[in-house]
Amino acid sequence: MTYKTLGPRPEIDVRGLHKSFGDNEVLRGIDLEIKQGEVVCVIGPSGSGKSTLLRCVNLLEEPSKGQVFVGGAELTDPDVDIDAVRRRIGMVFQQFNLFPHLTVTENLTLPQRRVLGRDKAAAAKVAAENLERVGLSEKASAYPASLSGGQQQRVAIARALAMGPAVMLFDEPTSALDPELVGDVLAVMRMLANEGMTMMVVTHEMTFAREVADRVVFMDGGVIVEDGTPDQVIGNPRHERTRHFLSRLL
Ligand code: ADP
Ligand code: MG
Repeated sequence: MTYKTLGPRPEIDVRGLHKSFGDNEVLRGIDLEIKQGEVVCVIGPSGSGKSTLLRCVNLLEEPSKGQVFVGGAELTDPDVDIDAVRRRIGMVFQQFNLFPHLTVTENLTLPQRRVLGRDKAAAAKVAAENLERVGLSEKASAYPASLSGGQQQRVAIARALAMGPAVMLFDEPTSALDPELVGDVLAVMRMLANEGMTMMVVTHEMTFAREVADRVVFMDGGVIVEDGTPDQVIGNPRHERTRHFLSRLL
């Protein structure tokens, strides 16, 4: 149970978003608003366009049509300072993408120094704070290969947090992990949610979605089929496609 209050402004605002790859229309008109402090889980079958939607929200993919606003700035405006908007957004992928030749601390300080221009001491301080948040202070000098998958993913989360994002996007952050390692990563995400972080999470973890999400969005075939509270969408789905998807997860 969370008791946070949601901010009045949408942090993420997606309007009439379409995305095609060649003649394959993958997103077919997506409208989605996520308020400050809101946690939205996106569920749906493989190939339904969940990753493409996330990637359009930080412009890793360029929308074919429609508008995307983050923090009030329009990403799809050709004149926008895209690097400034991207600095508002932290992204965590299924694959952790840590630099193998750098220590955990160096993985956290490098992007701060390169992108934010922080000096070595300031970056190291922020790195230490965020490693503590994810419970990995004792791994500061370790190399990624010596960590478990769950620990590596928590380092990846800390690395994103060290950039001071207003929004965190997660694309199946626990899908590559052995089952016994999933819980620690979800616990970190739950902590962030309770702290009021705005989060968009693509996941198959229905317990997490039920307990942590303010809203659950079910996508199928490039459209949002259902959008509501976890109790509505997971507990009492209105659409046959949603029921069918959920029944196959059990
Ligand atoms: P999901 O994350 O829900 O599994 P995706 O967004 O990854 O779905 O993919 C949706 C569809 O878009 C799939 O048919 C996939 O093959 C296609 N697709 C995704 N990325 C690309 C790309 N870079 N080039 C061509 N097709 C892509
Ligand atoms: Mg995906």
